[in-house]
Amino acid sequence: MSASSIKQNSFPRLLSPIKVGSQTLRNRIVMGSMHTRLEYGQDAVTKLADFFAERARGGTALIITGGVAPNLEGRIEQEALTLERTDQLDEHRPIADAVHAHGAKIFLQILHTGAYGKHDDIVGISELRSPINRRVPRVLTSAQVESTIDDFVRCAELAISAGYDGVEFMGSEGYFLNQCVTLRMNNRGDKWGGSVENRIRCPVEIVRRTRERLGSGPIVSYRMSVTDLVEKGQSADDVDTLARALVGAGADLLNIGIGWHESTVPTIGYAVPRGAFAFASRRLKKIVGVPVIASNRINMPDVAERMLDNGDADLISMARPLLADPHFARKVIERRSDEINTCIACNQACLDNIFVDKTASCLVNPRACREGDFPDGFAAVSRRIAVVGAGPAGMSFAVYAATRGHKIVLFESGSDIGGQINLARQVPAKFEFNEMLRYFRRQLELHHIDLRLNATVHAADLQGQGYESVVLATGIKPRTPEIPGITHRSVVSYIDILSGKEEAGERVAIIGTGGIGHDVADFLTVPGRKPQNIAQFLESWGVDPLIGAPGGLKPPLTHKPHRAVTMLQRGAGRPGTKLGLTTGWILRTELRRRGVQALSGCIYRCIDDAGLHYSVDGTDHVLAVDTIVVCAGQEPNQDLAPLLKANQCDVHLIGGARFAGELDAVRAIEEGLRLAYSI
Ligand code: FAD
Ligand code: NAP
Ligand code: SF4
Repeated sequence: MSASSIKQNSFPRLLSPIKVGSQTLRNRIVMGSMHTRLEYGQDAVTKLADFFAERARGGTALIITGGVAPNLEGRIEQEALTLERTDQLDEHRPIADAVHAHGAKIFLQILHTGAYGKHDDIVGISELRSPINRRVPRVLTSAQVESTIDDFVRCAELAISAGYDGVEFMGSEGYFLNQCVTLRMNNRGDKWGGSVENRIRCPVEIVRRTRERLGSGPIVSYRMSVTDLVEKGQSADDVDTLARALVGAGADLLNIGIGWHESTVPTIGYAVPRGAFAFASRRLKKIVGVPVIASNRINMPDVAERMLDNGDADLISMARPLLADPHFARKVIERRSDEINTCIACNQACLDNIFVDKTASCLVNPRACREGDFPDGFAAVSRRIAVVGAGPAGMSFAVYAATRGHKIVLFESGSDIGGQINLARQVPAKFEFNEMLRYFRRQLELHHIDLRLNATVHAADLQGQGYESVVLATGIKPRTPEIPGITHRSVVSYIDILSGKEEAGERVAIIGTGGIGHDVADFLTVPGRKPQNIAQFLESWGVDPLIGAPGGLKPPLTHKPHRAVTMLQRGAGRPGTKLGLTTGWILRTELRRRGVQALSGCIYRCIDDAGLHYSVDGTDHVLAVDTIVVCAGQEPNQDLAPLLKANQCDVHLIGGARFAGELDAVRAIEEGLRLAYSI
C-alpha cells in the first residue's frame, strides 16, 4: 500500500469500541503478550510500567503483559516472575496504574511452562520430554494437578487485587495448558487424560473456578491454540470442544495461538504473509459467541480492518508492531497511518535478542524498551549538519537529529533513499522493507530535511558551506575476491543481480554463504519471484486450515526451481549458521527444499569458460555454471573520511562506513540514533 492510500483510509471497525464481558474496550487494538526481558533487574517494575504506559498513551485499547507464572514450577526460567503471594502485589500495582492513567485496560497473562521450563524443577501433565528441552518433567499427581489449578485461580485473584482489569490464561504455543489438551504430551489414564473431555478438564476447571472466584466484573480471557502445527496435536474436534467448554465455563474472550515452539512451520517470521492465520480466529468466531482476538503477522491497519470486516475476528492482537511503533493506534485514530513505523517481522532485535538473554529492542525503532535512554527533547545547541548517504544509518541519524532541533542536509548519490535496503526489498520474502522506506520517506518530509538525491558528494563540496558537523553514512563497497579469472564474463556481483541489471543463467554458483548469499539464492529460486500469498504459504509449509489431521499438518508442496544453484564458502562450518536465530532456519529449509546445494571448505582455484574451479580436502572439482554471483562480504566505504579529517572538520562515521563486518540494519539504524543523541 502506498503512503498516500494509507492516509486516505479510515479504519472505522478497528477504531470502534467493543464490549467484552462487563467492560468496554475503546478500540480493537490489543497489545499481545510478549516478554522483553525488561522483567528482570532492579528497576524492572518502573521500566515495565514506562514501557506499557507508552503503548497505552499511544491509544492501544488493551495490553496483555508478558506471561507471569502462577507458581515456582511453572516459571520459564529461574529468575522469571511469579505471582503467588500478596507481598508481590506492589510489583504489579504501578504497572496497572500507569496503563490506566492513559485510558487503556491491562490483563495479566498467566503462563505455566510445564515441560518447556528452563529450570531444575519442571513438571508436566505426563513424564514426556519436550523435543526442545533436555529436562524431563516430573509428572504431576492428580492431587498436584488440583493444586496447580488452585495456583492459577489464586494468581488470577491476586492480579485483580493488583489492579489488572482481567487475566489471560496462556493455553497455546505448546505451554502447560496446551500440553494438557494434546495426546502428544498427555498420556495419562486418569481423569486428566485420555478422552478429550478429560484432557481439557484442567484448563476448563481453571476458567470455571476463576470465574466463580472473581465474579462477573474482571475479564477472563483464554489464549487457545487453534492449530498446533505438530504431530499428535489437537484435532479439529478437540479445538472446537475446548473452545465451547471454555466459554461455557465463563471465558469472556478467546485469543488465538498458532503452532508450538518446536513446530517446523514459520508462524511470525517475515516469510509469513500478513494475516496468514485468519482461518484460525475465523474458526473460533463460527463456534463461540464471545469476542475472538486474531494475531500473527497483522502489522498494518488495513490488514486489521479487512479481517474485522470479513468477520474473521473481533479484536486484533499486535505485539511486535507495538514494539516498532508504540503510537500505532493514535496514528490510526488521527488518520496518520502513513506515519506508522511498521514491524517488518525480521525478529532481529526483538526475539533474536531475547534468545540470547538480551533485552528486546527493534530494528526499525531502536528506542524500543530503552525509551528512557533517549527521551524526547532538544539538543543544547542546534547545528547545521551534512549527512552523506541516505541508507538506514544516514536516514536514521537525519530523522533523530532533526527531532532534536538540528538542521539537516541529506545527500544521496542514488535516485532514491534507502541504500542497500533497495536491494534487500527485491528479495520477495523481504517485501516488508518497503514499509521501512515509506516510513523514512514520510519522516524526512515531516522533519523538513533538505534531501538532495542524485547528489554524489566529494570532499570539496562540503568545504565552506557552513556545516558544523559532517556525518558519513556512505555504507559499503562489495568485496571482490582475488580469484584468477574473477573478471570472466560469467561473474557478476549481487548488486547486478538484485538490481535487475544482470539476469542469471540456469546454472549458478554463489561465492559466499552470508546473509546476502542466502538472499540471492532465495531470489534466484523462489517461484514467480513474488512474495507468497496466503494460500501458497499454507500449501508450501503443509498447513491445513481445516485441521484434517490432528495438529493441522499435511505434506508440504515444494516447487522445484528452474535454476540449479550452488552456494560455496571457504570456512569449514555449516553454511547459514550466522543467519537470524529465529528466522534463519526458515530460509535454510526453503532453499534445501528447492534443491540449493551449500558447500563448505572450498578453496577457489580459478574461473574460466568451464566454470568455477575449486577444491575441497585436496580434491579438485569444476562447477559447470553459466553465472557466478559474488557475495563475498563488504568493505567500508570511507572514501571521504581522510579528506574531511585533513580539513579538520567535525566528522562522524556511522553504519557500514564505520565498520562493514557484522553490519546489519539494526546496527546501522541504532548508530544513527546514538550519534543523534550525542551531537
Ligand atoms: P547503505 O545501506 O550501504 O547506504 C549507504 C548510502 O550512501 C547509499 O545509499 C549510497 O548510495 C550512499 N552514498 C555512498 N557514497 C556517497 C557519496 N559520496 N555521496 C552521496 N551518497 C553516497 N540487514 C538487516 O538488518 N536485515 C536484513 O534482512 C538485511 N537483508 C539484506 C539483504 C540484502 C540483499 C542486502 C544487500 C543487505 C541486507 N541487509 C540486511 C543489510 C543492510 O541493508 C545494511 O546493513 C544497511 O543498509 C547498512 O546501512 P548503511 O546506511 O550503513 O549503508
Ligand atoms: P557476510 O555475512 O560477512 O558473508 C560473507 C561471505 O563471503 C561469507 O560466506 C564468507 O565465507 C565469504 N567471503 C568473505 N571473504 C571472502 C573472500 N575474500 N573470498 C571469497 N569469499 C569470501 O556478508 P554478506 O553476506 O555480504 O552480508 C553483509 C551484511 O549484511 C552481513 O553482516 C549481514 O549481517 C547483513 N545481512 C543480513 C541479513 C539478514 O537476514 N539478517 C541478510 C543479508 C545481509 P568464507 O570466508 O568462509 O568464504
Ligand atoms: Fe518487528 Fe523486527 Fe522490530 Fe522485531 S525487530 S519488532 S520483528 S521490526
